[in-house]
Amino acid sequence: MSLVLHVDGAAWRAHQDSVVAGDPGIVPVAKGNGYGFGLARLAGEVTRLGLGCLAVGTAEEVALVRGSADEHEVRGSADEHDVRAGDAEHPGFEGDVVVLTPWRPGDAVAEAALADPGVITTLSRLEDVAAVAKARPGARVILEVLTSMRRYGMRPDEFEAAVAAAEGLEIVGWTIHLPMIGQHLGEATDLATAALSAYTAPLWVSHLSAADLDRLRQTFHVEVRHRVGTELWLGAHDALHYRASVQDVHDVAPSERVGYWQRRAGRRHHRLAIVSGGTANGVAMQAPTAAANARQIAQTVANGVMEAGRMALSPYSAGGHKLFFAEPPHMQASLLWVPGSVRIGDELEVTMRATTATPDRIIVE
Ligand SMILES: *Cc1c(COP(=O)(O)O)cnc(C)c1O
Repeated sequence: MSLVLHVDGAAWRAHQDSVVAGDPGIVPVAKGNGYGFGLARLAGEVTRLGLGCLAVGTAEEVALVRGSADEHEVRGSADEHDVRAGDAEHPGFEGDVVVLTPWRPGDAVAEAALADPGVITTLSRLEDVAAVAKARPGARVILEVLTSMRRYGMRPDEFEAAVAAAEGLEIVGWTIHLPMIGQHLGEATDLATAALSAYTAPLWVSHLSAADLDRLRQTFHVEVRHRVGTELWLGAHDALHYRASVQDVHDVAPSERVGYWQRRAGRRHHRLAIVSGGTANGVAMQAPTAAANARQIAQTVANGVMEAGRMALSPYSAGGHKLFFAEPPHMQASLLWVPGSVRIGDELEVTMRATTATPDRIIVE
């Protein structure tokens, strides 16, 4: 057995249904690793939900949600990512696909996407609006507004010029991508006011609360489209479980050396388990923490101290307790110190970071 994502299909889909029912105009986001599910599978769910539009991260991902290519062809071949089971059974999404990463000149895949009438391209600089208008009249575009994120987008004093430069393009909307924390209704309102005075079109927003969305919808008489990934796909926590299996177990004598790095067993370490799941699956992948509060800072420091002492808590647990790594995870296996109760064939729960998880298999029950 491998590292498997078990999905309670009924609960997962009931959650999706309720998110969609409560958010008219929702645009599901399916990008990157597909939040652990893969893009083809999420595209199938969007079709099931009966929605006409989904958002992907990059132009390369259009083919993945369309079903016209698999991960292998699009991302290039990487042996450990050999065709993931399940993708072939999902028919492609036929509705509109928004590419969230702004278009830039010289990207052949993004250029080709402009010719697809089902693709909506994001433009975040005046010069790109002009270039696309010249090269691809009739292309469908969204104009991106610079927010306090300071990521991509045009400033309000550029909006009029952007609309003028977009002559011949179909402006499908304005996009406003806000930070995850803080109050941003005021900012969204100011930016939307400036954008809509330059051109009337739907607003595509991200990371606004339900209350803020309502306020925007009351304030502006255009469609407000909310892009959602995490809450839609991962909100039903209890429906999703990553499990790995114990492939082998060895009794280890005191201070015996183990693993690639030949570290000695600690005083309390008598049993070594070899379990499925490793770096290829994203086991123990961490993003640099934003450490937003004192508790998170303390946790980060504590983890650093433990790792300096060569004791790293693993994401695997047995009997409700997290287990320690005996050494850093391998490509497709991990070495853990386990209590005597753990046996070959046992299934261990694994805590995975959904945006970096690549399970070997997904089982929808
Ligand atoms: C990824 C992304 C989203 C989805 O974010 P979640 O936090 O997963 O809901 C929304 N909008 C934009 C522009 C994004 O890039």
